Amino acid sequence: MPDCIFCEIVNKRMKSEMIHEAEELVAFKDINPQAPVHVLVVPRKHIDSVQDINQNDAELIGKMILVAKKIAEANNIDKDGYRLVINNGINGGQTVSHLHLHILGGRRMTWPPG
Ligand code: AMP
Ligand code: ZN
Repeated sequence: MPDCIFCEIVNKRMKSEMIHEAEELVAFKDINPQAPVHVLVVPRKHIDSVQDINQNDAELIGKMILVAKKIAEANNIDKDGYRLVINNGINGGQTVSHLHLHILGGRRMTWPPG
């Protein structure tokens, strides 16, 4: 997808702090971390948002959560807990239109979110 920064990162045309690379997805550190651990899990395939996934993506979405679990363990936030977030559209606060799962941990989160 032209002009998509996450496609640029996935294709290594833009630098990132990559922490995981697999066939269908990658994970890298958020450039503007909102918690001591803030990692984004991103499918290599461009999908705008959850509104654009379909049945064929079910396995990919499952893999995103399974990778998030492993990354939480690798960063030692699994025992204390962490938050997984997917922002969608304007009201969801989505700023990058390439589907991504936030992993946030290392501090106590508040609820409701802002
Ligand atoms: P969202 O608001 O849910 O769309 O999240 C987009 C996230 O991408 C934000 O937390 C940004 O800080 C992060 N972000 C934007 N550009 C980059 C980049 N070049 N490298 C890493 N993270 C980025
Ligand atoms: Zn993209």
